[in-house]
Amino acid sequence: MATDRPLPQVRLKPGREKPVRQFHPWIFSGAIAHIAGEAVDGEPVDVVDAQGNWLARGYLNRASQIQVRLLTWDPGETIDDRFWQRRLAEAVRQRQHPTIQGQTDAYRLVNGESDGLPGLIVDRYGPFLVLQAGTLAIDRRKEALAQMLLTLTGCQGVLERSEMAARRQEGLPDATGLLAGTAPTGPVEVHEGPLRFLVDLLGGQKTGFYTDQRENRRRVALYCQGARVLNAFSYTGAFAVHALAAGATHVVNIDSSVAALELGEANLRLNGFDPDAQAESIAGDVFQILRDWRDQPGRPAFDVVILDPPKFVQSRRNLERGLRGYKDINMLGMQMVRPGGILVTFSCSGLVSLDLFQKVLFGASLDVGREVQILEWLHQAPDHPVALHFPEGEYLQGFLCRVGQATMAASG
Ligand code: SAH
Repeated sequence: MATDRPLPQVRLKPGREKPVRQFHPWIFSGAIAHIAGEAVDGEPVDVVDAQGNWLARGYLNRASQIQVRLLTWDPGETIDDRFWQRRLAEAVRQRQHPTIQGQTDAYRLVNGESDGLPGLIVDRYGPFLVLQAGTLAIDRRKEALAQMLLTLTGCQGVLERSEMAARRQEGLPDATGLLAGTAPTGPVEVHEGPLRFLVDLLGGQKTGFYTDQRENRRRVALYCQGARVLNAFSYTGAFAVHALAAGATHVVNIDSSVAALELGEANLRLNGFDPDAQAESIAGDVFQILRDWRDQPGRPAFDVVILDPPKFVQSRRNLERGLRGYKDINMLGMQMVRPGGILVTFSCSGLVSLDLFQKVLFGASLDVGREVQILEWLHQAPDHPVALHFPEGEYLQGFLCRVGQATMAASG
């Protein structure tokens, strides 16, 4: 689609070029003075400063608050099929690494902005890929990108699970289905080390599996030998399988999704565990169940409690409410840990920094009167890189803590 005609030009307001010069890939509508030329949403534009100096090239969508997503800072680089192929090949090449190859066949192949491909997420599950198109420009090219991905990876099929909130902000409806090649006939089996997991690519959450937690599951397993484990917000029980494989005596999975729990039981069986004798699945609201347990005489006490809730802070507007949620769930979690036991707690809200999350945890510990020590800091796995010029790419924060006796006087 390359042409020699000059691209439409997005001119920035005076003083708004600094983030662009620092390679931040987003240009918000408020930074734009005007757009010259026959601009088409979803197609390439050049970006110039207020004086008309060329800065970068990206793609446009005037329906989005983020009107331009930048793709290149090299004036000689054209946005054509070869451009997309180069970027995809680079992302694929970066995953040819011992942290992934030989460890797992379920991993993030393309991580959007941090891989120089704004709006594009691709996860690999064995011989299948799942693509999420977060922007109009990616949506317009998704079939072509899917074909390129098949060629690059030798996979059998590319499915689409474009159902994110980000799409609505781009004015796009949800889209699900087959983009290229063939679709799997049922759940796909993937591996983390010697462990096996079934992933429902079309019916599961997000693209099917939480690969961002892979390294954390291995870390947490080291604390699970001989342990009774509570795996709250379990999804399909990946933490539970790792815990049992590491010698846990019993695991309780709690999730609001019955389908996820059922697949969780299948995952236990697949790895040779007995879902009745070695585990329990409880469908329901974690907050409610833990409150009920807290208030009953003979409150249960676990050696290890894992809390991996969904994103509580969706936007700055609900920051306070989301933080309240994190505090509440962590107070309950701490109360379920036997003295000296382990709490593993996560936030996947990008707006909650590690520092802020630690403060919330401190507040929770004061209110329940338990002394808490951080043993490990946990983050997203290396197939979910964060570009330094795109700090928004960091979202997963976790603490692995020891929860002491109830010796301090509770303040709340
Ligand atoms: N730890 C999981 C991923 C958890 S994702 C893994 O490693 O695979 C968050 C999960 O929380 C989802 O499965 C979702 O169904 C569940 N969930 C969301 N709100 C909930 C609630 N209030 N009570 C119970 N489960 C909830």
